[in-house]
Amino acid sequence: MSAVVLATRNTGKIAELSQMLEGFQLEVKGLDDFPEIGEIEETGVTFEENARIKAKTVAEATGLVAVADDSGLEVDALDGAPGVYSARYSGEDATDEKNNAKLLDALSGVPTERRTARFRCVMLAYAPGGEELAASGAWEGHIGEAPRGTNGFGYDPLFVDADSGKHSAELSSQQKNARSHRGKALRQLLADWPAFWAKVSA
Ligand code: IMP
Repeated sequence: MSAVVLATRNTGKIAELSQMLEGFQLEVKGLDDFPEIGEIEETGVTFEENARIKAKTVAEATGLVAVADDSGLEVDALDGAPGVYSARYSGEDATDEKNNAKLLDALSGVPTERRTARFRCVMLAYAPGGEELAASGAWEGHIGEAPRGTNGFGYDPLFVDADSGKHSAELSSQQKNARSHRGKALRQLLADWPAFWAKVSA
């Protein structure tokens, strides 16, 4: 059986992709299987660049096809910030709480109709020979006035889904995956996967 490496140490992401790749006869490994690969610096200025940096680094270090994702939140009233800096928005010692507090502060006094935002995700597969497959997804909504809900992570308590009017942290993981940026990107990647795999394993 062939293997792919997910360029992450997040066991939740590895389990999710393993489940979705069932039937493809692939073993899904994570970065924990390759401890010699240290922290990968995300120096790109777009989600695609960061996903490529991570996937290429891991593909070249392991000789296996690697898949990486990069994601973040774009707020229109903040000219697209925090964007690729979403995880580090409140600084070096950022936490989800601090990031959410900073976002609410930055939008203080901004009315609902100008609080539009979207999550974006790029998933990118990179083969040691240099072939790549990229897929992306977006999830439209706006930033609420106060946190709601206890599910998820990151900006989920503040992000209000445009379709249901619910905060992302109020959705079950199934409801979130069905509409999220990451769910959409992953489904697109999997739709294009058979052709990509046929090309890189030929
Ligand atoms: P990364 O793609 O794992 O580097 O995530 C980037 C950052 O974007 C996270 O740390 C979160 O702050 C934010 N983010 C990305 N996706 C989500 C999501 O689904 N919910 C809430 N926050 C998210």
